[in-house]
Amino acid sequence: MRHHAPRQPLTDVDVAIVGAGSAGLSAALVLGRCLRRVLVLDGGAPRNAPSPAVQGFFTRDGTKPADLLHLGREQLQPYETVEIREARVMGITPKDKHFELTLEGRTGRTSTVTARKVLLATGVEDELPPIDGMRQLWGRGVLHCPYCHGWEVRNQPLAVYGRAKLVTGLALLVSRWSPDVVACVEDPAYLTANARRRLRQQKIQVREEPIIRLEGTKGGELRHIVFESGAKLARTAVFIHAHQHQRTALAEQLGCRRNSKGAVWVDKKQQTTVPGLYAAGDTTPGTQQALLAAAEGSAAAININETLTREECPK
Ligand SMILES: Cc1cc2nc3c(=O)[nH]c(=O)nc-3n(C[C@H](O)[C@H](O)[C@H](O)COP(=O)(O)OP(=O)(O)OC[C@H]3O[C@@H](n4cnc5c(N)ncnc54)[C@H](O)[C@@H]3O)c2cc1C
Repeated sequence: MRHHAPRQPLTDVDVAIVGAGSAGLSAALVLGRCLRRVLVLDGGAPRNAPSPAVQGFFTRDGTKPADLLHLGREQLQPYETVEIREARVMGITPKDKHFELTLEGRTGRTSTVTARKVLLATGVEDELPPIDGMRQLWGRGVLHCPYCHGWEVRNQPLAVYGRAKLVTGLALLVSRWSPDVVACVEDPAYLTANARRRLRQQKIQVREEPIIRLEGTKGGELRHIVFESGAKLARTAVFIHAHQHQRTALAEQLGCRRNSKGAVWVDKKQQTTVPGLYAAGDTTPGTQQALLAAAEGSAAAININETLTREECPK
């Protein structure tokens, strides 16, 4: 599947897309429609895999995460120049005018592939607080985003857990969906008088005692928050502000500029600080939603195709 564009380096494909989540599949669709030779590489589950549904995605509200991506893959089938391969990208080496990617297949076998441009659509991984029950209930009883899940738990007894610096804003936001919100503060000594006043005004109760575990059902629903004293608070869901890190160190290894949270900086064309390397979706700064990731993937694809066209048709 070698592709030879005049005056361009001989590469296996025009574009390698790392990650087949919403951002990667959406980019592949646009590039496939440009007759570009595209290899999409994916090495695992998307970020929202533990969630029962993707909410707020125009025309797909309530679709299971796996079904959304299945549909995305299915709709790539007519585009014969697009291949999806189950492989983890272990390294990306910039060459003279192209990139060499090192892949590890499911069996552990490694191989290389060359591409003129690379799109990183590798997403992020959430770091959950080390409290018993958090991981088991993640995506159902433990939630991170009221825009994704607020409507499903509207008017129910809710909690918000986290550091004083972040918990106030999240609790005030969540109070839009329910009049019964309790803020469980990890470091109450840092909760300012102003924050307490704002929470009080919104009738949000503050709990200052450490949480020792969450109790819920096997299906992932939250029943109780259990405090150090043994006291139990019945809640339907707890929202947290999870820290996160990049799913891969590829951008870091390539020396891409990143922000203080580790997100990969991109310009208006989704181009990173490494020429020819683009990024889209959760891996870049900004609001993290499946539809927005898909939109960024689409924008990256258009910009990649236009850059390739300019390179192929010099002035
Ligand atoms: C619990 C939960 C629920 C959510 N609910 C919603 C919701 O209801 N609505 C909504 O809009 N958003 C929701 N989100 C946010 C949504 O999941 C993300 O915004 C979206 O998945 C981002 O898409 P992405 O393509 O950037 O990344 P991802 O979907 O995370 O996809 C990245 C892909 O890259 C692959 N990958 C990573 N590294 C490599 C590598 N080195 N080699 C090969 N492949 C690699 C991963 O395996 C993965 O398949 C939720 C998030 C969470 C955590």
